[in-house]
Amino acid sequence: MAIPIVDEDLCTGCELCCDIAPNTFAMNDEGISEVIDPEGDDEDTIQEAIDSCPVEAISWAE
Ligand code: SF4
Repeated sequence: MAIPIVDEDLCTGCELCCDIAPNTFAMNDEGISEVIDPEGDDEDTIQEAIDSCPVEAISWAE
C-alpha cells in the first residue's frame, strides 16, 4: 500500500494540504505538515493535496 509522506525540508507550512485532506495531514508544532493518518482521506483527495502542494513536498511511498 502506498502512503503519503511529507518532505519536511521542502514544506513551507502553507497549510494547503491540511485544508484539502484534513484527516490525513496536520500542522505540527514546527509549522510543518505531517501525516497523521495515511488513510485518513480517500486516495483521490490525498492525490489532490499532493498535486496542490506548491513546492511538491508530498509524495507517495511504498
Ligand atoms: S501543501 Fe506542501 S508546503 Fe503546504 S503545508 Fe502541505 S506539504 Fe507543506
